[in-house]
Amino acid sequence: AAEEGFDLEEVEGALGEAGHGPLPVLAVVGRPNVGKSTLVNRVIGRREAVVEDRPGVTRDRVTYEAEWAGRRFKVVDTGGWEQDVLGIDASVAAQAEYAVEAADAVVFVVDAQVGATDTDEAVVKLLRRAGKPVVLCANKVDGPSAEAEAAYLWSLGLGEPHPVSALHGRGTGDLLDAVLEALPEAPEQSFGAGGLGGPRRVALIGRPNVGKSSLLNKVAREDRVVVNEVAGTTRDPVDELIELGGKTWKFIDTAGIRRRVHLQEGADYYASLRTAAALEKAEVAVVLIDVSEEISVQDQRIITMAVEAGRALVIAYNKWDTLDEERRFYLEREIERDLVQVQWAQRVNVSARTGRHMEKLVPAIETALEGWETRVPTGRLNSFLGEIVASHPHPVRGGKQPRILFGTQAGTRPPRFVLFASGFLEAGYRRFIERRLREEFGFAGTPIHLSVRVRE
Ligand code: GDP
Ligand code: GDP
Repeated sequence: AAEEGFDLEEVEGALGEAGHGPLPVLAVVGRPNVGKSTLVNRVIGRREAVVEDRPGVTRDRVTYEAEWAGRRFKVVDTGGWEQDVLGIDASVAAQAEYAVEAADAVVFVVDAQVGATDTDEAVVKLLRRAGKPVVLCANKVDGPSAEAEAAYLWSLGLGEPHPVSALHGRGTGDLLDAVLEALPEAPEQSFGAGGLGGPRRVALIGRPNVGKSSLLNKVAREDRVVVNEVAGTTRDPVDELIELGGKTWKFIDTAGIRRRVHLQEGADYYASLRTAAALEKAEVAVVLIDVSEEISVQDQRIITMAVEAGRALVIAYNKWDTLDEERRFYLEREIERDLVQVQWAQRVNVSARTGRHMEKLVPAIETALEGWETRVPTGRLNSFLGEIVASHPHPVRGGKQPRILFGTQAGTRPPRFVLFASGFLEAGYRRFIERRLREEFGFAGTPIHLSVRVRE
């Protein structure tokens, strides 16, 4: 029961904000310099700086949240691919491929001042094959006189070109209206085949050479020939159903893992796009770490991506067969130092080579998914919060003592809590609450979102 005089509307508002599941995903694709990043900035209201000065700069984040006409969705910026890094055709092909895998709808940006180029035509072909809804953006239409140029883009066969000036904002409202029409209410992956009730979706991720492909071959019990293909030239199945521990699992983007494209430059960016795409589709992430090497910034970044995507998390320490006493000692220290923020993750120590502890992978994944889906009844949560407030009150600040009034779990997958408090709760106190929530209710292997509403 809510506290006396508690505003239920406020609670419902907070629940709405916390969301009720995955958001639909919009990918923005197009040649370099057509204005993709400028458009993304516009759509997300410039909350994050995405336009980079230097070409080919690797960006950690490619997914942003946006809202239009009361609907929320995710925007994926595939900008930052520069012609001199990957080659223009490879880069746009990879973008389009990415769009196929991860997005529910695509905005295809063309520079109306330049008109449709051969590369644009090639992208159109790829997008057609993908069968996802496409909204055509004729960008750089800065004034009415330029609209005639936009009309030429009917020739692409993608329907109506929406004249836009991403730079000045002109026409972006109409474009977003068209986007909302194209986007499904809820992402496709939540329903139907492989959705709720279907096989659980696993993203096997990690930096190059940690052993993803070896592990995949081990669990799939087959040694496939690994061929080096140019991205986007084939339409092999991207995901694979694999039997493990008596159940069927859907491993996301096994094609990408097996393809092993190792481009010299831009490879990191390519890998990070694929990782983001796999995470977008997955429920649980298995992050592989190579224990024969020191835990790197890149390892940490991939774990952060999984956490930020809100996925259940298993960390598989691979190549355990290579450990000697000394390395093992340092490894544990590195884990304590570098991975302290994901102490809650499920951990397995495996060797894809010898098969060591492979049987522990499935229980770890199942435990993580269980935590991810745990729901605490409001009554139980509030009696727990009441005990905390009584035994460990928030420290007094400036003569005041902020108090938690009421809490509710707004969602699962991952668990999201909204706490209503009489004042600002310090970060340290929030962490304490999170820790106690974990001790009390489990949540092994899942990130927890905690948001606090201050009731004036
Ligand atoms: P991306 O490589 O596709 O992400 O392109 P950017 O967003 O980085 O934009 C490339 C260049 O085009 C930048 O100099 C932008 O300022 C410019 N630009 C983007 N949108 C517009 C527009 O609507 N009108 C004009 N005139 N220039 C634009
Ligand atoms: P990926 O790039 O993450 O797919 O990594 P691979 O599966 O291609 O593995 C990279 C290298 O690590 C290969 O030479 C593998 O044989 C080796 N490797 C993978 N797993 C293990 C392991 O458990 N132990 C040892 N010693 N080597 C491994």
